[in-house]
Amino acid sequence: MKNQSYVWHPNTQMLEWLKFPKIVRGNGMWLIDQDGNKFLDGVASMWCNVWGHSKKELVDVIIKQTKKLQHSSLFNFTNEPIEILAKKLTKLSPGMAQVFFSDNGSTAMEVSIKMALQYWNNLGLKNKTKITTLENGYHGDTFGAMSVGYVPEFFSKFRTKLFSTVQFPVPNSYHMPNNFTKNEFTDYCLEKIDKKLCEDESIAAFVMESGAQVAGGVNIYPVRFQKQVNEICRKYDVLFVLDEIATGFGRLGSMVEYKNQKCRPDIVSFGKMLTGGYLTLAATLMTKKISDSFLGRFSEMKHLFHGHTYTPMRTKKSINKIVFDEGKKHHIFFRTLGNIIMLVPPLAISKKEINLLIDGTLDTIKGITRLTK
Ligand SMILES: *Cc1c(COP(=O)(O)O)cnc(C)c1O
Repeated sequence: MKNQSYVWHPNTQMLEWLKFPKIVRGNGMWLIDQDGNKFLDGVASMWCNVWGHSKKELVDVIIKQTKKLQHSSLFNFTNEPIEILAKKLTKLSPGMAQVFFSDNGSTAMEVSIKMALQYWNNLGLKNKTKITTLENGYHGDTFGAMSVGYVPEFFSKFRTKLFSTVQFPVPNSYHMPNNFTKNEFTDYCLEKIDKKLCEDESIAAFVMESGAQVAGGVNIYPVRFQKQVNEICRKYDVLFVLDEIATGFGRLGSMVEYKNQKCRPDIVSFGKMLTGGYLTLAATLMTKKISDSFLGRFSEMKHLFHGHTYTPMRTKKSINKIVFDEGKKHHIFFRTLGNIIMLVPPLAISKKEINLLIDGTLDTIKGITRLTK
């Protein structure tokens, strides 16, 4: 019984699966394997597909964009599609001012948590460091995301490396504790949250899924629950951080579920259905209150210390900015590491272009030396 696959499949006991159906084509709601078997896609390709597979309009725009530009980092540049998308997302999401992009839901949650923690740090309130969450939540499989969404069966092996959080019981429609009605248990949960947030000033944020806990067994919250948690957070000046990765963009009938829940989060993340399942992308949106707290002189180090290869980062005036501006005059894109100018061109670069790169680098360094004299 030897497993022959070169691919290690996620959350899968590989010995149980000696052979996986090989999907060769998608067509509408159907996936088709190499033997011609059809599978009606009952999981929307891990909950992210919206319009079905091989939807012509989507494929066409992806091809059109791919022919123009495949990837340009947001570390120092911007680009048209990302600007359009960021604007659309903020218009769609009441109260939100800006968008930080990453490439999967777990990282979007990592960004949310870091943003919430650094917000208080930027304000000088360095003791506000605790994260509160709900039991039975799920926010992804990376370490920060595991910490805020502890699911015992999934995460117990890594428990010693997870950061601690305060978890509250969540009203669960399927099994109420003895003698509680749904209403009474909702009140009981809310009282617990209120009491803790009232007495503990070190709480930085409350993180929860918006609308329902999906991975936790499709637990749809009682109508008023999320709104009241939001109100408690506001009362005690705790950031309200929502995860709409599973529920946003239509799954619960709303594009933005917190609107439906009559909430106003400080930070909210979208993923999965954001791209209809055609590209890997996630987004973390925040209010102006949050984004403004990250503004300052470069030396204040208030900017967000986070960025992925397929992500943006905000840069302010710094050595990096000076080098970038000077490099631009010589038509070269640099991104520095501290006081190091790194040259990392695409591997297929020609000799002629290498020479241009080196000459331009030398001219840039001369230019900077002149500037900083
Ligand atoms: C799927 C999911 C995530 C993680 O997203 P990935 O893209 O799988 O990393 C986070 N939160 C919720 C609610 C999810 O359903």
